[in-house]
Amino acid sequence: MRFKNSLTVILLTLILSACAQGVEPNPTPVVIRDVSQPEVKFDAAQTPSPVPFQFSLPTPGAEPISGWRPPLYPIPWAMSPYDHFYFARPIAADQVNWPIPDYRYGGVFFAPNIVHTGIDIPTPEGTPIMAAGPGTIVWAGWGLFTEAPRNEDDPYGLAVAIRHDFGYKGQQLYTIYAHMSKVFAILDQHVETGDVIGLVGSTGATTGPHVHFEVRFPTNSFFDTYNPELWIAPPQGWGVLVGRVMDTKEKTLQGVEVNLKSVETKKSYVVKTYGGGGAVNRDAYYNENMVLGDLPAGFYKVTVKYDKKTYETWVEIFPGQVTYFTYAGENGFNLVRPPAPTLKSLPEVLPATPTSIP
Ligand SMILES: [Zn+2]
Repeated sequence: MRFKNSLTVILLTLILSACAQGVEPNPTPVVIRDVSQPEVKFDAAQTPSPVPFQFSLPTPGAEPISGWRPPLYPIPWAMSPYDHFYFARPIAADQVNWPIPDYRYGGVFFAPNIVHTGIDIPTPEGTPIMAAGPGTIVWAGWGLFTEAPRNEDDPYGLAVAIRHDFGYKGQQLYTIYAHMSKVFAILDQHVETGDVIGLVGSTGATTGPHVHFEVRFPTNSFFDTYNPELWIAPPQGWGVLVGRVMDTKEKTLQGVEVNLKSVETKKSYVVKTYGGGGAVNRDAYYNENMVLGDLPAGFYKVTVKYDKKTYETWVEIFPGQVTYFTYAGENGFNLVRPPAPTLKSLPEVLPATPTSIP
């Protein structure tokens, strides 16, 4: 290909580099991007054009939201008795509907003592937010965190809570949707999976538009959250890695970086292990302190750094399933799952029980 002059090359380079940025959602916190364009000045010394001129690049539209991703498994999805992908994602399949990778559940980002009790899905302001499962609206509006209706200083902003028609281990399940720009759901309304309950916004404590999504049980309390990546159905053909990272004495480690690298695509994934207690809870079966969801099936190398040494193992991610590992310091990795749960601990369907607003 021959370009007419060097200015064309510069322009093409600018345009191409702008396109290349958009494959993954911006890691968080979602900061509103500066879309003003630098002026490209004509350089008379470089280009023999008789008329010096000046122009600006056109303002681009929204960045491309995604590469193609497979559709999600239907819910409820459970390949094994200890899994519980009961929920659809609160954002439609044709939008970014996956969590910000750098700010997953249990992550500590804004301050040493503020943990993330959910996942953040970064989508443009006004994107419809959908019920992740059937249930009854038990909160709609301001004040979810402070339990003070109409409190516009509430960190959750405009939020919705759903008490689901089904439970888990005989306990009630709830999902939370926060930072909305508009709430459509009303108290006591019954919703089905996919019903639009509001729109994405940036109300409450947030730096940009996203939906903050939580899974809670047995009560609708900030202290009863669980990792949503173990509850939302993965994309078809993709799976989830769950780990329990401990020291040599089998005490769980917090804030340890776990690296994962796909053998096929060479793509890397990083997650930090979380603590337990407080508002962050571990799955009753896996007792995990890290989850990496949305992983294309295939072989991956797992790396943990401990005591200045690097430990590695290889895992296989299976479609629609959880792959589990433990790591125990100098004793390294173990891919044996916890003992199978008893029938008693299997999930069960609960009748919708009318209770008062929590
Ligand atoms: Zn969040």
